[in-house]
Order: sequence, then structure tokens, then C-alpha cells
Amino acid sequence: MSIKTNLEDIKATIPEHVTLVAVSKTKPVCDLMDAYNAGQRIFGENKIQEMADKYAEMPKDIEWHMIGHVQRNKVKYMAEFVSLIHGVDSFKLLKEIDKQAKNHVRIIKCLLQIKIAEEDSKFGMSVSDASTLLQSDAFSELKNIKVVGLMGMATFTDNMTQVENEFKFLNNTFSELKNTNPDLEIKSMGMSGDYQLAIECGSTMVRVGSSIFGARNYNN
Ligand SMILES: *Cc1c(COP(=O)(O)O)cnc(C)c1O
Repeated sequence: MSIKTNLEDIKATIPEHVTLVAVSKTKPVCDLMDAYNAGQRIFGENKIQEMADKYAEMPKDIEWHMIGHVQRNKVKYMAEFVSLIHGVDSFKLLKEIDKQAKNHVRIIKCLLQIKIAEEDSKFGMSVSDASTLLQSDAFSELKNIKVVGLMGMATFTDNMTQVENEFKFLNNTFSELKNTNPDLEIKSMGMSGDYQLAIECGSTMVRVGSSIFGARNYNN
């Protein structure tokens, strides 16, 4: 199957209100260009350096999403061009993004990553920490970031009931936080194996990699 066909097949199954992020991490620019030429304009990467390299090489009408864990000292390498940072999990990180956005006279959109999985390995904030952050004075002083939604990663398991419960938890958390933060619009949840379930549970943004580009090989 070609990248173009994969992309078209996936687009045919997702409703119009759901945004498709093509997760292109580890894939060469020629693969991304296949998706670009098939009309895809939103790409997700999980390493800042790799994203910056691809940004430099590719057409400038692409929206670049950082979907991985972000180290504060690397924010400066993407502040000029990143469209949306999905994995924001602390006030300190948000503050650094704000500072770097200000340097570039930009407002950078961010999602707060909520811990929805049982596994310890997944990053993310508790609901109460996210709620406290969003209501703090310190947060309201950050003028160069805008928190526009929430992101979550479900447990890596075949137990789809568990995955469904975790997605529903993010959906409920979103509704709860939106009461006091009307700027929240995006629910980023769902990957190749579970994006349809995620959409049923309220996702408005899915991050799909291997179903578009094929399996990743981390050895090359
Ligand atoms: C790699 C990755 C994805 C895409 O995973 P696939 O299973 O290849 O679709 C989605 N979200 C995050 C945060 C990722 O790191």
C-alpha cells in the first residue's frame, strides 16, 4: 500500500471535525513529501531536532506538531515555527515556551498532557494539577502561549475496554476543565491502533503514524 492510499483510506474513516496529524517520526523526507503531495499539511514529530531538520527542508505551509516529551532546554529550537505542542506537562515548561515564543513575537498553542494511562512510564499531569495550573495567576500572566486543549496517551494494551475507559476519562476531564477555561477546544487522543475508538470517545485530533507510513525501524 502506498502512503497516498493509506492516507486516503484513513481520511475516509474520520469525521470532518476530527483533525488528522500524520506522525512522521523516524521517516525520511521523501515519505513525508508523498503525504504532502497527497494533500496532508499537518505532521507530528517527537524529537525537536528531527522536526527542525524536516521543517528546514520542506514546504513552508506545513503545520508542525511536537507530540513527544519536551525538554525545556530544547524549546528554543522549535519556537520559531512549531504550530502546536501536545505534551506540556508542567508550568515550568509552559513558562519556557512562553519566553521563547515572546522572543519570536509569536503565540504558541499548547495542549496539556493529562496522565490517563495506568502505566508509570507515560508522562502527564494529574487532573487536579492541570486544573490548578489553568486557574493560577501565574498562568494568566503568560501572554505568548495559549492552552487550547488536552492530550492523552492510553495504556499500551490489547484490553480495549481499558483503553476506552482511559479515553472517556480524558473526555470527561476536558468537559470539566472547559467550564472554567473556554479556550479549550482540542482533545488529542488516538493513534493507529485505537483512533476509531478514540473518536467514539470524543477525540477531535488523532495522531496516526504507522497506519500511514508503515512500521517504524528504529535501527537506521
Ligand atoms: C508515535 C506516536 C504516535 C503514532 O503512533 P502509531 O501507533 O504509529 O500511529 C502517536 N502519538 C504519540 C505521542 C507518538 O509518540
